[in-house]
Order: sequence, then structure tokens, then C-alpha cells
Amino acid sequence: MSTPDVIVQVALDVPLRRLFDYLPPLDQPTPLLRGMRVKVPFGRQTLVGIILGQKDHSELPKDKLKPISEVCDLEPIFPSSLCDFIEKTAQYYHHPVGEVAFSGAPLAIRLGKTKKTTNSKALLAPPSPSIEIKANSAQQKAIEAILETQSTFAPFLLEGITGSGKTEVYLQVVDALLKRDQQALILVPEISLTPQTYERFNARFGAKVALFHSRMTPKERYDVWMQIRHQQVSVVIGTRSAIFLPFMQLGIIIIDEEHDPSFKQQEGFRYSARDIGVLRAKMASCPIVLGSATPSFETLVNAQTGKYQHLTLPMRATSASLPKVTMLDVRHNKLEAGLSSALLSRIEKSLQQNQQVLLFINRRGFAPSFMCYDCGWLAKCTRCDARLTYHHKKQLLICHHCLQQRKMMTSCPDCEHKELHPVGQGTEKLESFLKEYFPTLNIARIDSDVTSKKGELESLLQKAQNNEAPLLIGTQILAKGHHFPHLGLVAIVDADGGLFSVDFRSVERMAQLIIQVAGRAGRVHEAGEVIIQTFHPEHPLLQPILHQDYAKLSQILLQERKASLLPPFSHLALIRAQGPKPELAQDLLSQVQATLAQVQKGEVSILGPVPAPMAKRQGQFRYQLLIQASERKALHQILSYSTVILENSKLAKKVRWSLDVDPIEMF
Ligand code: ADP
Ligand code: ZN
Ligand code: ZN
Repeated sequence: MSTPDVIVQVALDVPLRRLFDYLPPLDQPTPLLRGMRVKVPFGRQTLVGIILGQKDHSELPKDKLKPISEVCDLEPIFPSSLCDFIEKTAQYYHHPVGEVAFSGAPLAIRLGKTKKTTNSKALLAPPSPSIEIKANSAQQKAIEAILETQSTFAPFLLEGITGSGKTEVYLQVVDALLKRDQQALILVPEISLTPQTYERFNARFGAKVALFHSRMTPKERYDVWMQIRHQQVSVVIGTRSAIFLPFMQLGIIIIDEEHDPSFKQQEGFRYSARDIGVLRAKMASCPIVLGSATPSFETLVNAQTGKYQHLTLPMRATSASLPKVTMLDVRHNKLEAGLSSALLSRIEKSLQQNQQVLLFINRRGFAPSFMCYDCGWLAKCTRCDARLTYHHKKQLLICHHCLQQRKMMTSCPDCEHKELHPVGQGTEKLESFLKEYFPTLNIARIDSDVTSKKGELESLLQKAQNNEAPLLIGTQILAKGHHFPHLGLVAIVDADGGLFSVDFRSVERMAQLIIQVAGRAGRVHEAGEVIIQTFHPEHPLLQPILHQDYAKLSQILLQERKASLLPPFSHLALIRAQGPKPELAQDLLSQVQATLAQVQKGEVSILGPVPAPMAKRQGQFRYQLLIQASERKALHQILSYSTVILENSKLAKKVRWSLDVDPIEMF
């Protein structure tokens, strides 16, 4: 009897939903273990892959099978538990497993390299002495509940307003787990925006803490990866891709500001680090804590139905009181740069009292559009269904969707009229107006236009923190996790955009934003104040926002969602397709739709194909097919069919398509 063949199943970083069969290498006697990297021939290329399994039979004839060219590792660099997690994640998102495996991995890992690791600076830094803080009773209750779970899966929602002491809860829980020799993962929405989180963990735990995020160099990221793998690092503060780090003794996952959309990757492999965080915690048998002042509705419903334990920190941990939120009715008012005269005098008053002022406007640039008043011409992007934004300083019209730039014109291209006007406002216009209005004042504008330069954001934030700039103008960047001790007044320049959007999540988002921004005010001093400018003071949803009554607001909105069967009361997936001609994308999705219609059952509805909300972008015509299901299982069945159709369709070769499970944006 001949010995059974050994066929090695390898995951490759290619867009195909399957594993690839190879024979063992010809000359290497090393054991072939799950999680080791290998180099294999693939067409004319050599690719790096990960061994995920072995079997004794391949569908391919034996003479078609090729041997592995090289085994890169002496031991599995992807621990088996990580391989399991990668496979489950790939299944959930119906995404090619090799792409999932490599998506969070540093470059050297993807290239099959093994390098010597060096200790990063953070590791050499001695732990600074830190002050012991005694938990208050709400914190103590939360800490005990989390630690009580020992090593079992237990999801928690930790709901507490800004400053209620959530971070202190994380610190004390992690402290206890480190004493049990466990590792902790803390995910934050954007690391460059929350330097305080790292500083506080580093101050408490010193060398055991590492950072992991995309602004680090590939080498730094590689070092952290290996240090986690070899348990030289116990705590990671990272952004979403840190969920794929090779922890060996994961004792807890903490997702801070869990409602933040940045936890969802919006292109390529579209995953939610929060959602798969829950999966990873389950697989690692450890607790997961989702912390927020304004939990996502998905998480809220999970807490309400008892799937998650609901912990609350109802009060601020320090004596700083909550800001007062008021509304400023600006109907019948003449606005200048979007500001009413009443708001301007409030700003002046606060500045005179030496209080810092933050103006919040969710639009960067000078003006969202540029117009000829004579013939109505509007500056539009030629490659997208979008207007060009006027950038005053650069004297350019820029498309925020494809980055197309056009020089400013001096006359209307249609009617040659000599006067063109910016319409609406953005951060830049506010800044230029306020610089004229307060000529001697130091004003800081903080948005992604000024923060793309390395170090610029950090230095602006520093200036903001120690009140070198008494007047701050910013986009949502400023709403995230900063502590501005001198802040006395926050003004939401335009709340109406969020109240009247087509996106069903827009009110939820705006409320989260306003409550977060409000949390920036009055952290140290006496209570701060938040002013919301609106043309719609009678809007029913403004009342709960004014009272910062997130519970009430979510109750109203969740009723609406339930009535119209929107998430979290149903499950969605979006199949997007785009091509150089409109028919191509539409035809492909019609093909999918027609096939699905035959297998679909009552609990699933398939809507479309319809043109995407932005039907043309970067010169591509975009369509989408929305799948809505009351049960997740039914959704997964439909998606499995869909990927088979899409991968085998001839049309799909001319069209780019993607799958988005649990989409949070409909674009
Ligand atoms: P959050 O993460 O909810 O915004 P933090 O944990 O940052 O809240 O706490 C806000 C402030 O209160 C911090 O300066 C923190 O050091 C302080 N703090 C937290 N818990 C306590 C406590 N039990 N006693 C005194 N101060 C506390
Ligand atoms: Zn004109
Ligand atoms: Zn464009």
C-alpha cells in the first residue's frame, strides 16, 4: 500500500475565494505547520502564502500540482488561534481568506521575510511613576463585572459620558489581567487623534505597552507584530488593523469610542474591527468591552436584549460639570460666513472672559460650491457627480471625491460673466472671515487639509491644548478624545445638514458628534456651553439632542428603524459594481439579481440594481444591489450564491465589484 499523499492548502493574497493546493517542498525536511509562511509558484509569479491546512487528496491531477518552493518560517508566525480567526472572518465577509490574512500584516510579513527585531524606543522607556486613582463605586462595579468573567467570553457595553472615567476602568482592568500574564488589546478610532490614550497606558505600564497604527514605519510595525507573537509586549494600543495581531494570551479586547465609523474599513476588505473584535474575543474566550458615551445603535440593541452586559458610568469622575446645550434659532437672520450676529457676540463674550472657543463645521475647504449668479453655472467635477469645492488659499477648485483640481477661473465658462461666487461655507471660509473679524486673535483651523503634513496635527493640538489659540475651527477631527482644559464655548455652526440627510444613520451620527463635541467643553473649569445654530428649531429630534438625552433620542430613532426594518432590526449587504460604461455594471448586477431571485426566500429582499447615490465617480459608472434579510443566516446564504455568480461571470472581468457586509455608508 502506498503512503497517502500530503497536499498542503495555502492561502494566497489573491482575490479568489479558495485555498490553493501544493505538494510539500522537494528538499526541505522541516515540518509543515498551519500558520507558517511559504513561497509558491502561481502562474508565472512566486507568491507568499500561509499554510492553513493539509489533506490527502486534491481535485487536481497529481501532475498538475506543484511543490512549495520555500518554507519561510521555522515556526508558525500566524498562531493557530489567529488562523482560526482569519478563516472565520473571511467566511463572515465572504472575502478571499488570503486577503484577510495579509490585510493587517506589516510589509515584511507579507513579503515572506524574517528579520531581526529591534526593541523600539517605547520598550526602552522606563515606566514613569503614576498616581494611583481610587475607583468610584460605578467604576468599581464595572471593573469587578469585567474581571469576574475570568477567562470566558463576555461582551460588555461600558456607557459613560466623556470624563466619566472609562479610561480609568480600562487601566485598572488591564492592570489586573497583566498580573495574570494575559495580553490586552485596546482599539481606538485614530491613533494620531488620541495620543492621550497611549500616554496614560504608557505611564501606568511602561515597557509592556506598544502602539500599532498605520503612521508607523513598516519596520516598527513588524517589530510590534513579533513582540506580540513572542509575548514580549502585553498591551497594544492600536487602530483597526491591530485586531489581526498574533496575540498568544489575549485576556481582553477594549474598543474605545466603539460608535466611531473609523472602525470600519471602507475600501478593499471592508471589515468592522468592532464587530470582528467580538468574534475574536469569543474565539479567545475573553471579555470584550465596548466603550462609548454615545453607543452605536447596534451595540445598544445588543445591550437591551441582554446579549451584552450593560455597564454605566453615570457621572463625571471629576468635579467638572456637564456643559449646557442651547439652541440658537437663526430663522430670518442674515448669516455671515454661516454665523449669526447673536453667535458672534457670544463668541466675543467668551473670548473676553478668557475662555477658549471651538467652532464646529463638518466641511473643509472654503465653500462647497462655486457659482455664476448670472446663468446658474456651478463648478462640477467632470469625473464625479459632485461639485468642486473652492479652496481659497490654494486658489483651486478641488473635487473631494477624486481629488481632481482645476485652476480658479476669472469668468463663467458658460456665459463669460466676470463675477463668480463661492456658495455655502467650509472651515477655510470661517477662518478667513474670523481673521478679519478678530484681527489680533490667534486662530487655529484643524481639518484634514492642514493635518496631512506629518507633525502638523500634533503641533496644532498642542497649541489648542495650552490655549495659545483661543479660537479653534474644526471638523469632526476635533470631536475625538481630546482634552482642551480651557474650552468654554462650543458652537455647532450647522446642525441642519445632519437632520435632513438621505442616509438613515445621519441623525445618529450627528447626535453622537454633538454629544462628543459637547464633552470637550467645561472639562476642568466651570460648566461650558454648547450652542447649536439651526433654521429648524422645531425639529422633534433637536429636543433630546439639546438635553443630551441620548437614551431618549435612540429610543425614538430605534422605533423608526424597527418600523422600516432597518439595521439593527435587519441585516444588510451591498454589492457594488463600477465600470467605464454604465451598462456593464448594471448588467452584471442584473445577472446576479436574476439568479438570486430564483433562490431567494421570503425573509430576504433584493433591491436593485440601482445607480449608486453618487452614480459617477472618478470616471466610473456605479451601480449597487442591496440585500436585506431579517435573519443573518439567510443573508449569508444569498451572499454565498452571489460570490459564486460574480467570480464566474464573464462580465465581471470588465467590471470592478465588491461586497460590503453590514455597510455603514451607502455610497
Ligand atoms: P473617559 O475615558 O470616560 O473620558 P477618564 O478615564 O479619562 O474618562 O477620566 C476623566 C478624568 O477623571 C481623568 O482626568 C481621570 O484621571 C479622572 N478620574 C477618573 N476616575 C477617577 C476617580 N475614580 N477619581 C478621581 N479622578 C478620576
Ligand atoms: Zn454664467
Ligand atoms: Zn471628482
